[in-house]
Amino acid sequence: MTKKTSKRVKHIPQRTCVGCRTVQSKRELIRLVRTETGVGVDLTGKANGRGVYLHNLRSCWERGLKGALASALKTEINAEDMAKLKSIMETLPDDTLEESNSLPGKE
Ligand SMILES: [Zn+2]
Repeated sequence: MTKKTSKRVKHIPQRTCVGCRTVQSKRELIRLVRTETGVGVDLTGKANGRGVYLHNLRSCWERGLKGALASALKTEINAEDMAKLKSIMETLPDDTLEESNSLPGKE
């Protein structure tokens, strides 16, 4: 294994929100995970299983729950889990995400 580090770049994990398809640093997103028992929110971010990410915005969850989430997880979300996810969605702020397409993410 040869490891070339020409630049010292701090690696920030980037993940895609399955609702709006925006790539964002992992910390800004909520992880959802598919486990043996079903689909749920992974608050620790470390649960085993296939995970996907969503903003904590209702609009993203709405889009995600309509199908993007299930297809990203390659599973069907059962009614019970869907009800749970919807109740979580209800607690999220209704703000729509700022259109950041035109701006290169400056930090
Ligand atoms: Zn989103």
